[in-house]
Parts: sequence; structure tokens; C-alpha cells
Amino acid sequence: MMKQVRKYLLPLVMFLIFETVAVTLWLTKGNIFYLLNFSYIGGSIALGGFLIAGGYKYARRVVQLLVGLYMLVYLGLICNENMQIEGFWYYLFTGVFEAATIHYAVAKIFGPLLFGRGWCGYACWTAMVLDFLPYKTPSQPRRKLGWIRYVTFAASLIFVSALFLAKVGNIERIMFWAFLVGNAAYYAIGIALAFAFKDNRAFCKYICPITVFLKPMSYFALFRIRCDKEKCIDCGKCRRVCPMDVDVTDNARTRKNGTECILCMECVRNCPKNAL
Ligand code: SF4
Ligand code: SF4
Ligand code: SF4
Repeated sequence: MMKQVRKYLLPLVMFLIFETVAVTLWLTKGNIFYLLNFSYIGGSIALGGFLIAGGYKYARRVVQLLVGLYMLVYLGLICNENMQIEGFWYYLFTGVFEAATIHYAVAKIFGPLLFGRGWCGYACWTAMVLDFLPYKTPSQPRRKLGWIRYVTFAASLIFVSALFLAKVGNIERIMFWAFLVGNAAYYAIGIALAFAFKDNRAFCKYICPITVFLKPMSYFALFRIRCDKEKCIDCGKCRRVCPMDVDVTDNARTRKNGTECILCMECVRNCPKNAL
């Protein structure tokens, strides 16, 4: 009974957290966009939480599409906000605490202290497409290619720094084009890697520069999947269905690939003993 109540309470808490951010930013920055933006995202996530609690199989995909398409199409293509990592550096260097910097602060830097890599499971517009591919669970062991993420992270920082150092004009326009080209490259590389490694999430595991922020912060996440050792029969099903190779039966923060958990709930849905 308590577990059922907790399942429905969590989306409500998430909605209240997003509403707090929405109202605070609206009042402090005097811009109603923040109220609408964060209410929409919080509402979408809460809706997904209720659908998950109700057992709807595609709940996570619904949230991914609601939030991912909104950010890619509305914020990115229509409002010309570069929400990729270059946009974050750009706004950071100009000292503007606006869309991309706020987005990174909430979803990718401080948010993960609360909800881990929920961004990766429910909102990312890159994974929104990759999750449609056929390799939902990896069939091969993880490769030692995680170092590539540091290269792409450094490349994004060097690219934006060079634009500032060279005093290039109209960087705002360049940022918009960087958003288009960057996204096209992410999709192309992500899809190619998924087929090459037979793993939809290969891009997330090896290439994505944002994980340089996400992984260390999510190590301390408040919301994590825990295993009830009394109920677990060590059947290994949770490990087999996990898209991110997490050993969720280990409750330690140092568990294998612990900072990779995207809270997709596949392990919870598939556990035969209701131990997660
Ligand atoms: S690892 Fe990167 S590409 Fe993958 S879901 Fe997270 S933010 Fe998106
Ligand atoms: S699926 Fe459930 S019972 Fe099986 S190992 Fe995982 S937690 Fe234990
Ligand atoms: S299957 Fe479980 S452990 Fe693996 S990413 Fe999803 S929620 Fe995390």
C-alpha cells in the first residue's frame, strides 16, 4: 500500500519542484516565459509519472516526445535558442543567465543531485530518436570508449572560446547554425553507432559531452532505484533488461555503472519479485 502511495506521490513532488523553479524565475526575472516553460516541462514529467504508476508501458516515451520535441522544435528551431553544450558555453561567457544556462543548471548540473539522469530517460531529444531504434538492450559487453566524451566536451569548449578570442561577429547566428549542424551530427553518429554496436544508447555511453556534468552529479542523486535484498532471488533479469548496464541489485553508490542509470524503470517493471 505504502509503495503504491509513494509511486503516485513522486510525480506530484516532481511537479511541485518544477513549479517552484517556474514561479521563482518568473518573479525574479520578470518574464512569464519561465512560468510557462517550467510548468509545461514539470506537467509533462508529472503526467509521465502518473502513467508509469498506472502501469502504462509507453509512459516514458510519451514524456520524451512531449519534452524533447518542445525543446528541439519550439525552443531550438522556432525561438533560436541553442540548448546544446555550445549554447551553454556561449551564454556562460556572455554572462547571461538565460535559457541555455538555466536549462543546464536545472536539468544537467544541480537537478541530477535530486533526480539523477532523469533528463536522459525522459527529456533528451537525441535519445528521443535513438530509443526508436531496434537495440533496446545491449547484446555486447560495454567497450572502453568512455574517454571520447571528454574529447567532445573539450571540442565544444574550444570551439566557443575560439569564437570569442577571435572576436568573430554575430556569434548568436553562428550558435543557431551550430545547433542545427550539431544536432544533425549527433543523430547521424548516434544512429550509426547504435547499429554498429547493436546498442541504442551507445552514443550516450561513449560520445555525449553532457555526461561530463551528468555522471558526477548523479552519483549523489537522492532518487535512485534500490534493491530489497530480502525479496531479491538474484535471477539477473534486471541486469539483462537494463539499457545502461547498471548493476541495480547493488545498493552502493559505487555500483557498476551506477552513474549511468537513466531511471527508465525497465528493471522495476521486469523484476519478478517486486524487489526494486
Ligand atoms: S547521455 Fe547525452 S544524448 Fe544520451 S540521453 Fe543523456 S544527454 Fe541525451
Ligand atoms: S530482477 Fe528482481 S529478483 Fe531478479 S535479480 Fe533483479 S532485483 Fe533480484
Ligand atoms: S533498467 Fe533500471 S538500472 Fe537500468 S537504467 Fe533503467 S532504471 Fe536504471
